[in-house]
Amino acid sequence: MTTHHFETLRGAVLAASRAGTWAQAVQEWQIISVEEEPLHNGICVCGKTELFYLYKIHNQVTQQDLFLIGSKCVNLFEVEELDLSVTVLHKLLKLRSAFASHQDVELTSEFFSRAVLADLWQNDAFPPTNTIAATATTITSSCLTCSISNTSSPQERDVRSGF
Ligand SMILES: [Zn+2]
Repeated sequence: MTTHHFETLRGAVLAASRAGTWAQAVQEWQIISVEEEPLHNGICVCGKTELFYLYKIHNQVTQQDLFLIGSKCVNLFEVEELDLSVTVLHKLLKLRSAFASHQDVELTSEFFSRAVLADLWQNDAFPPTNTIAATATTITSSCLTCSISNTSSPQERDVRSGF
């Protein structure tokens, strides 16, 4: 990365931010998506070419989007929350491609982290299971009742028919 690239990025970011300095402006942004570009055809707003990861970032203050941004420029934001969402989004990308290629996905750190699970949970990936559990209990208890009554009646009949 050259200074020229950073100046171009800073210009684009400041133009879409309310804050007037880079240090304050970066706080207004969050990453909203990341996609892979296998042909490395992406061009960053800073002018850098041949990008593989294409980020879209959103300014929560001005409601403006910047697309696309490369990994190197995303790292220049140096905001902790932004770093966390980069990690989560990369895990989700990996998870999605594993599902797409029918790989076995186990609940290990290869695919999951606390932050990934928290993100999935926040996006309703886990439907409530209370209803299902309650139904299962009802079915089990009614089956128990019916199997008891089924086994007891023939025995009674056998006893009577023996006399
Ligand atoms: Zn860039």
